[in-house]
Amino acid sequence: MTSEIVRCVSCDGYGWFEEDGVTEDCDWCGGIGYVYRDAAGVDHRIPESDYARVSDTLERLEAERLRELGYSGTARHPSEQAIRKQNRDESQTSAR
Ligand SMILES: [Zn+2]
Repeated sequence: MTSEIVRCVSCDGYGWFEEDGVTEDCDWCGGIGYVYRDAAGVDHRIPESDYARVSDTLERLEAERLRELGYSGTARHPSEQAIRKQNRDESQTSAR
């Protein structure tokens, strides 16, 4: 597996678009804001089943992005909240 994770070129890492006050998830990345880029340079959506595995990387990339934007680091990416929720669900399942 040589895919690296890159910022979604369609939504520039936001994971969604806002137009006239209406927000819509980005189709290209599925609302995550990041995609896999394989060795051939082709971007692929990160499947939901991989969220837990890549959450650390996404968090780091998101922190970098927010720093670029000049945020202090308190803002939370919507997809990170989804990842946290999924991690919690998985740990509950495995505890049984
Ligand atoms: Zn996107």
